[in-house]
Amino acid sequence: MCAVIVEPLIQCAGYMRMYHHKYLELLSEACREYNIHLIADEIAVGFGRTGTMFGFQQAKITPDIICLSKGITGGYMTLSTILTTDDIYDAFYDEYEKLNAFLHSHSYTANPIACSAANATLDIFKDKDVIKNKILSAHMRKCFESLKDHPHVSDVRQKGMVLAIELIKDKKRKGLL
Ligand SMILES: *Cc1c(COP(=O)(O)O)cnc(C)c1O
Repeated sequence: MCAVIVEPLIQCAGYMRMYHHKYLELLSEACREYNIHLIADEIAVGFGRTGTMFGFQQAKITPDIICLSKGITGGYMTLSTILTTDDIYDAFYDEYEKLNAFLHSHSYTANPIACSAANATLDIFKDKDVIKNKILSAHMRKCFESLKDHPHVSDVRQKGMVLAIELIKDKKRKGLL
């Protein structure tokens, strides 16, 4: 099995690099062409952070595997989960003796308190229009816009509720670090 793993729309671990959703579409096409699985790590960008429930939805692609954590409990408890297609699930679903099973578990798998926190969080997403509320992200943009002119700020970039301020010692050396 071969796979590509990406953080949709924002490469958070690594300077909050934001990229166009077209990249995900082309990547998804290439993966399909070469029969490579596409894994979307939505741990940081999922649950409305970029303006849609999941980042990959802006590219209208369907990853083979999705990783979720952080926002799934609103940050109140630790919980993570992996979602996948029936095909991949079935490939590992077998009698124990056949040794096909992908043995993956943790001591506190399905911890009931963490799962309750996740259910409560998902209820809020269902009942309240939290993602469509763009007021806060527009407010953030307004608050930090003027920093672009600061001598030690080389970039202010934003995608939904993620705003990154890049600090630099010498603005003329941008990109030469
Ligand atoms: C935090 C983070 C992880 C690690 O998540 P855990 O639930 O702690 O395993 C992985 N990927 C991304 C993008 C993250 O932000």
